[in-house]
Amino acid sequence: MRLSSQQIRTYKQAVLLTAKKAYDEKLMAGTSGNLSIFCREEGVMVITPSSYDYRIMEEKDIVVVDLEGRVVEGCHKPSSEWRMHGEIYKHLPHVGAVVHTHSPYATSFAVNHQTIPVILIEMIPFLKGSLEVSPYAEQGSAQVGLNAVPILKRKNACLMANHGVVAVGQTLDQAYINSVYAEDTAKIYHMALSCGQPVVIPGYEGE
Ligand SMILES: [Zn+2]
Repeated sequence: MRLSSQQIRTYKQAVLLTAKKAYDEKLMAGTSGNLSIFCREEGVMVITPSSYDYRIMEEKDIVVVDLEGRVVEGCHKPSSEWRMHGEIYKHLPHVGAVVHTHSPYATSFAVNHQTIPVILIEMIPFLKGSLEVSPYAEQGSAQVGLNAVPILKRKNACLMANHGVVAVGQTLDQAYINSVYAEDTAKIYHMALSCGQPVVIPGYEGE
């Protein structure tokens, strides 16, 4: 691996800080959710460990794996969703980071298999349109990622049927903010549905 130890440290620190932030913001409950940065030249992902308490997670707990799930560096197993991250990186060359959460409002629409139409201005630049739902696949399988790829070719986030949310970006900061907007959008849509009939932004009705 050509990555310097300093580069790896920087990526691990970013993954750790973002994971803790997502936990604090209640985008991830318990040990659910996971996130990664992809080092495309080296073909390795810097990813959160499997089933590990975010509150006590340290830099040393972050794992470096290749796209086949082989641990290149680290003392834990990678997130059980590493295959999903791997498929997204393999198929989408523009993606440099993935944030996967089970954030409650967005996940409730994922459970309903219900697309969230373009109802907020932030959805246009950040999410690239409506929040669509990718078909259900067994947790931990490559198919989870493969099912999301056709949507993530066009969008920066999608709902995953009966599961959660996946957001992507060129950088981890971008992927994270997209996951925040996915949840915020779902929360506002939920509230709007409870008190009336939400109106789609003109020109985005068929989105
Ligand atoms: Zn999940």
